Amino acid sequence: MLKRTEGIVLKTIPIGEADLIVTYLTYDFGLIKAFAKSPRKIKSRFGSSLEPLTYSKISLWGKEYANLPRLTQSDIVMSFRCIREKLDCFLKVSEIIELTLTFLPEAEINKKIFMLLLNTLRTMEKDCNMLLTVIFYKVRFLDIVGYSPKLDGCARCGKSGFSFYISQGAIICEKCAKGMNSPIRLSPGSVKFYESLRSWNDSIIGRLKPSNSLLSELSGMINDHITYTLSRPLKLRLS
Ligand SMILES: [Zn+2]
Repeated sequence: MLKRTEGIVLKTIPIGEADLIVTYLTYDFGLIKAFAKSPRKIKSRFGSSLEPLTYSKISLWGKEYANLPRLTQSDIVMSFRCIREKLDCFLKVSEIIELTLTFLPEAEINKKIFMLLLNTLRTMEKDCNMLLTVIFYKVRFLDIVGYSPKLDGCARCGKSGFSFYISQGAIICEKCAKGMNSPIRLSPGSVKFYESLRSWNDSIIGRLKPSNSLLSELSGMINDHITYTLSRPLKLRLS
């Protein structure tokens, strides 16, 4: 069966002398792997369309539930070359790609995450110095997959508070937190900004100018939360 969709290359693994297994985040089928025959040969018909982050229109051939369909066509829509060519930018993106690969189950359709990643790459292609873009991706991604930190009031009684308990993944008020280990203290500004990131439209992000201290506070809390949830820090890998 021939399937057509749009996909973003998240990862490639070389097989043998010239073949590749490509992991795509696709619009219609979620996270999938595909086998690409001889893309590493100089005159490959796939050209540079299998470079990490490339957004392409692709065709896949295989039995309906085949684990590894074969890639038959791949036409670049956006290459995101600027991101790949700047190391610091590429490293920032690697972090969110790793997050996506780690949390997202294979072959589960998730159009919201596809659009979130595509919009994030578009933003970073224009301006990659935005820690805010990375934080925004993490907040929205965790929200969609159901692992987001809970900051909108104490997880036990609902009263407002600013002490985040990593083991609970949530804010717990002073009264309910008796006997718990030391929390991460968040500023009211960070809690408010986090809630805004969860609800605001993507297009507003480019116009926001939060302070660096607020961003680093939020970023630290989210990274600690991810590390705790995974029981390991996110590795940087994108090959
Ligand atoms: Zn409480």
